[in-house]
Amino acid sequence: MNHICIICGRAGVSLKDILPATLAPPGNGTAIYCDEHVAAYSSLIDHFSSQLDVLNALAGVRPFPITRHAREQVVRGALALSTRMGSAEGLRAIAYVLQTYFARYFGEIARSAALDELKHYTLGETRGVFVWWDTELPADYPHNAFSFGHRIAVGVDPDSGQIFGRLSLFSTFHFAATLGIVSSVEDRPKGAVMVDIDPLTDLSMHSVFQSTINPIGLIPQKPVDHSETHAQSVVSERSVMSLARLIANMYDFRARRTASRLVEGLSEARANSASLDGCFSGLHGELTQHAFHLLQHAIDLFVTAPEIAPIEDVVRALVLTEGETMEQLSPHAKVSVHLARDAIVTKLAEDFIDDRLTSERAFSLIAGDAGVAAIIELMLVPVVRRFTELI
Ligand SMILES: [Zn+2]
Repeated sequence: MNHICIICGRAGVSLKDILPATLAPPGNGTAIYCDEHVAAYSSLIDHFSSQLDVLNALAGVRPFPITRHAREQVVRGALALSTRMGSAEGLRAIAYVLQTYFARYFGEIARSAALDELKHYTLGETRGVFVWWDTELPADYPHNAFSFGHRIAVGVDPDSGQIFGRLSLFSTFHFAATLGIVSSVEDRPKGAVMVDIDPLTDLSMHSVFQSTINPIGLIPQKPVDHSETHAQSVVSERSVMSLARLIANMYDFRARRTASRLVEGLSEARANSASLDGCFSGLHGELTQHAFHLLQHAIDLFVTAPEIAPIEDVVRALVLTEGETMEQLSPHAKVSVHLARDAIVTKLAEDFIDDRLTSERAFSLIAGDAGVAAIIELMLVPVVRRFTELI
């Protein structure tokens, strides 16, 4: 029974490749779809993967609100994201993810008639309103096991028999859904399943936390004014704000992680009388990325000084040209970023040797005010002094 396709009852294939890799449920599990139905859902799977790609790409942009550019990027990104997720295809893709998770944990019900309407909908044979953007999470919804974790929860309301699902991406974008009805009271499972997934770890070893909880309190309420059109038009300030906050928080989180890794590594190197350089080169990529963000901020601050204001254009042209990501920078802008990183590394090493480098101080140098000050002092001031001496 549990190895047959939930749609057509033919022999099923494995659980692999039926969801984007980052959202795969734990365990190898039982088969859910046959080859033909995996193929039928492939465009929804691709659609969902591309939405995650947008989020992942945005999570790598410089933190809001350092530049107007960055803000525009966030707004554009949020619009693109909302438009895609709120589209008929986007909501159908979410319904498919929830259907698949429900089948993973409640195979018998998923193979019964309880999900018939949902299956017609996810296969694109009918229209309907199964999924909506969820603006109010349950009051006692447990915290995600991971910072910025994804979450999928599925279960059945023991009173009404309503099958429901919830999906959160990066702990920021929330969706809720009704998936069907279990009419017979004794067939209603007592526990709902909640799966948290860490999107920030390496894909090959992504961490998953699965728990069984009481479904009461998780049951979503479909908005009263809900219609298909409404579901597709939620492109609001809210999603722009959520995305901006997500990007800023992720940036902070990453910088703190780099800072504590660095301080740990340096202490270990000192204990083993090893060279400190290895610690910095081990974090080369992360430090460069942070230096790139800080440099932009340092320049904006530096050119406000009265003696620099008249040569603002020269300074900007000297040290950095526009570019959204490290990869898009011109060769000379890359040199500037490297100089900025060297300035930060110099301060980090100095502070460590003087026993002043706490994780907090390292964080401030890598991604905060201390880093901006270091770049101004060790890079921008000398460059401009030399430049003005020569012209
Ligand atoms: Zn099938």
